[in-house]
Amino acid sequence: MNLVLLGPPGAGKGTQAERISKEFQIPHISTGDMFREAIKNRTALGAQAEKYMAAGELVPDEIVIGIVAERLTQPDTAGGFLLDGFPRTVPQAQALDKFLEENGRSLTAVVNIEVDPEILVARLSGRRVCATCGAVYHVATKPSKEPGICDLCRGELIHRTDDQEATIKNRLAVYHAQTAPLVQYYRESGLLLPVNGERAIDEVYQEIVRELRNRDR
Ligand code: AMP
Repeated sequence: MNLVLLGPPGAGKGTQAERISKEFQIPHISTGDMFREAIKNRTALGAQAEKYMAAGELVPDEIVIGIVAERLTQPDTAGGFLLDGFPRTVPQAQALDKFLEENGRSLTAVVNIEVDPEILVARLSGRRVCATCGAVYHVATKPSKEPGICDLCRGELIHRTDDQEATIKNRLAVYHAQTAPLVQYYRESGLLLPVNGERAIDEVYQEIVRELRNRDR
């Protein structure tokens, strides 16, 4: 199953992606995670991406397309993949289509998690992430047992710089300007699978799995 997970920042893409990737045994490919890893390891890619990410802007298409194309040539993606956070612009989506076509592959579905913008700001500003294992918490809805410490690995919980209020507003504005047009793009190609993301994580997840199974028949 070759999947794309679409939705505004804070829609719960990362959380759903982890589960879907386990369920269908396909690698979870998050461009945001790839950039954060590159920044942590102080690579050239990290240095290029950092200034855009800190401002809530998109990393230029040619950089992102390059790293995704490279990732999709790795053998673990042969049986399927789940893209999370890519594509984010129409040119990225076109590049993905072209790359897949050249390799005799195509997308199975594009899951679009829909959430009202006001809910997104509240979700993102309270989000805390483990600096060691990446587990995600929320100060109001999913606090860790001990404040500031990860329940799973006892790593330090951090407030991502791009989850600060001013950057969140910019990320949402960037989403509406550049990523929302993708919904129409994929609707036209018949791949779009809209899901209401304002419900409990489990409910959203069950619906996604049910719809994907129907589609894969
Ligand atoms: P995410 O974790 O998916 O919210 O991504 C965090 C940040 O990484 C974004 O705000 C962008 O700066 C950058 N980024 C991730 N994926 C992409 C992409 N497909 N195109 C451009 N920038 C991206």
